[in-house]
Amino acid sequence: MISTLILVAFTLNAAHADLNSDRLKELVSINSGSANLKGVKAVQDKIKPWLEELGFEVSFKENPQGEKVSAPLLLATLAGQSPKAITLIMHADTVFEPSSPFQKWSMKNDQIMTGPGVIDDKGGIIVALQALKDYLSELKVKHETPKYTIQVEITPNEEVGAIGWWKTFEELSQKSWIALGLEPSFEEGIVEGRKGNVWYEITATGKEAHAGVNHAKGINACNILAEKIQKIQKLTDYKKNLTVSIGHIEGGQDKYNIVCGWAKAKLDTRVPSKAIRDQLNQQLEAILKDSAITYKIVDETVPMSTSPISQPYIKKVLDLIEKTEGKRPTAHFSGGVGDANHFARDGLVIIDGLGPTGESMHTPEEYIDLLSLSSRAKVLTQFLLGL
Ligand SMILES: [Zn+2]
Repeated sequence: MISTLILVAFTLNAAHADLNSDRLKELVSINSGSANLKGVKAVQDKIKPWLEELGFEVSFKENPQGEKVSAPLLLATLAGQSPKAITLIMHADTVFEPSSPFQKWSMKNDQIMTGPGVIDDKGGIIVALQALKDYLSELKVKHETPKYTIQVEITPNEEVGAIGWWKTFEELSQKSWIALGLEPSFEEGIVEGRKGNVWYEITATGKEAHAGVNHAKGINACNILAEKIQKIQKLTDYKKNLTVSIGHIEGGQDKYNIVCGWAKAKLDTRVPSKAIRDQLNQQLEAILKDSAITYKIVDETVPMSTSPISQPYIKKVLDLIEKTEGKRPTAHFSGGVGDANHFARDGLVIIDGLGPTGESMHTPEEYIDLLSLSSRAKVLTQFLLGL
C-alpha cells in the first residue's frame, strides 16, 4: 500500500514536472522582446486560459500612454473572503528582440534548459501558476475559499522600465496588503529590497574662444564639468548600497583649437532608500551649485527599501526554501530595478525573487534549473497557505 502511494505521488510529481517544462517551452518559443508587441500579447494569450482554468477572471488593459507604447497589461483576479489582496507580479517580455540570435530553448542536460526569458521571467510565471493551482486545490480539499483576493499582473514591458504602468502599479499596490514578485531567484536566495535609481543630465556652459589666439577669453566647459565629476565620483558608498556612475560625457565642437563652450554628462545614481536618495540629492546640489552648471532629473524609480514589516515573511520564505531544498538561502538587496519598485510603499509587505533558480539572465547563456520550477512552486504554495 505504502509503495503504491509513493508511486502515485512520484507519478503526480513527474506529471507536474512534465506539464511545467512543456508550458515553459511553449512560452519560451514565442519571441516576446519588449518591442515585439504582438509576441508579448501572444505569450499573455497563452497564459490567459491557464489562469481561467484556476478560476481567475482575466482582462487586458491598454497602455495608458497609447497602444503603441507596449502590449497590454494582463490582469487576473480571484475574489477571496477579504477584498485586501495578495498580488503576484510577473512580466511577459524579455530583452531578446526578434533580431537577437538567441530565440530557442535547448536542453543542456535533463535538468538545465537554456532559452530567452527562461528564468526572466517565463519560469517565474510557471512557478506562480503551479503554486496557485496547488494552493487552490489544497483549499478545496479543506472546503475553504481563499482568505484574501488574489491579483495576478503580467507586465508587457518590464525590461524597458514598464513605461505607462507606474500609476496602475500604484493602484494595484493600494489594493494589496502583500506583493510577491516572481522575478528569478537571486543567487538561489530571494530579493528583500531593490535599489532605486535617479538619472541626472548635467550641462556645463562655458565660452568658446580661439584656443591659441584668445585662450584667456575662453571659459572651458569640459574643465568645469570634469572638476564636478571628480567630486561626484567620490559619493559612491558601497557600505550604504549607494553608487554614482557617469555613463556618458560629451562636449565642445570636436575641434582642437576651440575652447570648449559646452559639455554634458549623464549620471546614474542608485539608492537603497528614500532617505539616502534625499541626502545624495543635497550633496549633488551642493557640488553642482555653480552659475556655469544646470542639471535636471530625467528619470526616477523609487527604491524598494528593506522594510521591517516584510522581515517575518522573508524569514518564512527562507525557512520554506531550506525545508524544501535542504539548503539555507539568503535574502539579497539587488542593484537592479524591477516592477516591484513601483509597488513598494509604507505599510506593504513585499518580497521579490520568488521565481526559479538559474543564471545569466539578459545574456544568451540564460538558463534555468528545471527542478526549481516545482521546488519554488512548493515554497510559494506553502507560503500562501500560511497567510
Ligand atoms: Zn525580469
